[in-house]
Amino acid sequence: MKIGIEKLKAMIAEARDAGRAIPAYDTISYLQMDYAAAAAKEAGTPMMFMYLPLFEEIISPKEFVALKDVLQEKYGIPLITHLDHSKSIDLVERVIDAGFDSVMIDMSDRSFEENVRVTKEVVSIAHPRDVIVEAEIGHVGSGSRVEDYQDSSLYTNVEEAAAFSKETGVELLAVAIGNSHGVYVETPHLDIARLKELRAAVETPLVLHGTSLIPEDQVADAVRNGIVKVNLCTEMIMAEMEAIEAGVKAGAHKSGGLLFTEKCVKPAMMEYFRNKIAVLMGKG
Ligand SMILES: [Zn+2]
Repeated sequence: MKIGIEKLKAMIAEARDAGRAIPAYDTISYLQMDYAAAAAKEAGTPMMFMYLPLFEEIISPKEFVALKDVLQEKYGIPLITHLDHSKSIDLVERVIDAGFDSVMIDMSDRSFEENVRVTKEVVSIAHPRDVIVEAEIGHVGSGSRVEDYQDSSLYTNVEEAAAFSKETGVELLAVAIGNSHGVYVETPHLDIARLKELRAAVETPLVLHGTSLIPEDQVADAVRNGIVKVNLCTEMIMAEMEAIEAGVKAGAHKSGGLLFTEKCVKPAMMEYFRNKIAVLMGKG
């Protein structure tokens, strides 16, 4: 049940026009996907399930698509499968064969020319198969290294982003504006002024990576100023692990048995998803 380029572009445009962002989560289990989709259904938003290259050792692209299909039927909302941060064209081809809707090729740590060249190659593979492409310009680093997100010389350059967008024809473009992946050692401060310049100069809808643990007022501000897809993972894992820990501490694993997850983990994860999606819907 692939969605197709035209419908995906329409969904992205609708989110941008409404000042909303589509939530995108790196999910590896059926229950993570189920709770996320349940919250998306309540909020009336499409949702992306993202597949990281390291997932291949645990769940195949085909299994991932099958889980999405089951949930799409269960909830009746658009659920989008997306390959996150691939450096491999071979993996891009394999997930497209498995039925993915969207792929990211990440050459952001290479030269501008190399990034353009490889991204164009991926576009030439994906578009004929009715699959959209995300790329990254400027490099989103690691939250564990302060310089990765505090040194504004590493942020996405507006002219480069505009040229990249025109040359590659991607549907989504990830930018570095003070965001980083994983846990931030110091509170990040998004460069909203840079985002506004990017929004004005770049036709392609923009994506914010590393959104977990960015203060919610900043996330809301970024969405208001043109971010249409928000990548999340760390917060979801934390909500899940903290709920398991609290349940075990309370001894619920001894009495709850089979229903431990349903009773102890689901409520906490649903609350997390509801609150985060509300921010992305402009209700934060
Ligand atoms: Zn990322």
